[in-house]
Amino acid sequence: MPPDTPATTRFDALAVKRQFPGLADERLHYLDNAATAQMPEAVFDAMRRFETDARANVHGGSHRCARRAMDAYAEARSRVARFLNAASSNEVVFTYGATAAINLAAYSFGQSLQPGDIVLLSVLEHHSNLVPWQKLAERRGVVLRFLPMTEDGRIDLDRVEEEAAMGCRLIALTHCSNVTGAVTDVARVVRAARANGARVLIDGAQLAPHTPLDMRALGVDFYAFSGHKTFGPTGIGVLWGRRELLDSMPPFLTGGQMIQKVTLEGATFRDPPFRFEAGTPPIAQAIGLGAALDWMLTLDWKAIREYELRLTRRLLAGLAQLSGVRVIGPTDTASRRGVVSFHVEGCTPDEVCRALDMRGLALRGGYHCAQPLFAAAGVDGAARASLAPYNTEADIDVLLDALGRLVGRNDAARMAAGHAFPAQG
Ligand code: PLP
Repeated sequence: MPPDTPATTRFDALAVKRQFPGLADERLHYLDNAATAQMPEAVFDAMRRFETDARANVHGGSHRCARRAMDAYAEARSRVARFLNAASSNEVVFTYGATAAINLAAYSFGQSLQPGDIVLLSVLEHHSNLVPWQKLAERRGVVLRFLPMTEDGRIDLDRVEEEAAMGCRLIALTHCSNVTGAVTDVARVVRAARANGARVLIDGAQLAPHTPLDMRALGVDFYAFSGHKTFGPTGIGVLWGRRELLDSMPPFLTGGQMIQKVTLEGATFRDPPFRFEAGTPPIAQAIGLGAALDWMLTLDWKAIREYELRLTRRLLAGLAQLSGVRVIGPTDTASRRGVVSFHVEGCTPDEVCRALDMRGLALRGGYHCAQPLFAAAGVDGAARASLAPYNTEADIDVLLDALGRLVGRNDAARMAAGHAFPAQG
């Protein structure tokens, strides 16, 4: 191979795709990865091994199955820590998803906030990184402030330094928008926070599926993500937190397993992460997540990044050719991931997705749990195509072809009704 051959030619998406039983049907074009990605065989295997060879509770128990289960659960935590390049697996709290992880942080870290303290969010946040802070504001008199959105669908960081200096105690932002695909400059956010003694929580639900992470380099205080978007099972997610912060936080849910000692009058709690894992955890799911992240670590993410950008470019260029189609978000590939939302004039997002489904295309339409973003953009929902390493150019081409037909039908209907063509998107 000549030295300047781009890495994209070396990435074999079809070889990846073959590892996914859920994608065996060649007529399926799965482009709903930002909602839930498919699971590779390695994850099914790991979960099946647990259920058949080691199924038992992970709390106490000295029999062999219990020991195997505890080992496998601890190993899953270590795998997550490796994926995150965390300083210790004790910084990894298993939750049932990114939503639960952010709720945990909002409740437990939120206990240290006082009336008038500011939590800085953005208008692009998923409801999971908005509503828990609204509830905190109601409970503790914390004030929420919001970074606006730029014209091209990014968090506008122009005033982040100024905002951070206004009594801000926490900045909680998405790493990658689940609507626009724009990636946040976390380094700048961390600098602004540090200069003012604020903490940083990053909602990584949409970035974690696109790359292994490095908590030590990122410099944030909390990081949340979901298993089912990172090629693992549903019902599992992670809150990573700095050890000293987790140590200082009270529990969120309480009950069995998270306690040190209980009397009729009260209880003392275990150290993190166990303090935050009340009751029997989703054991098979944690093991599945560990296997999924290990599987991710076997891939060449530099090559995948180039490949994904190539597909994204192809999709954006194709959408730009379609009349009445408006992309919600950046129309270039700088600082973005393969999450592309678009509105089709004259159709609801649901109608678009139903029409695409007839061609085997799996896309999601609506507000994508980001209603304030759509209010700011002035758009009534969007269909969204979101990429994973198993997607191919064929998926993009089938999508563009199907959209071309849909738009063509709309135009013909409009012509017949005597209306003008809509403006180019
Ligand atoms: N944050 C973002 C940016 C998301 O896209 C999602 C899910 O779509 C979530 C949080 C919530 O994830 P979950 O539903 O897995 O808890």
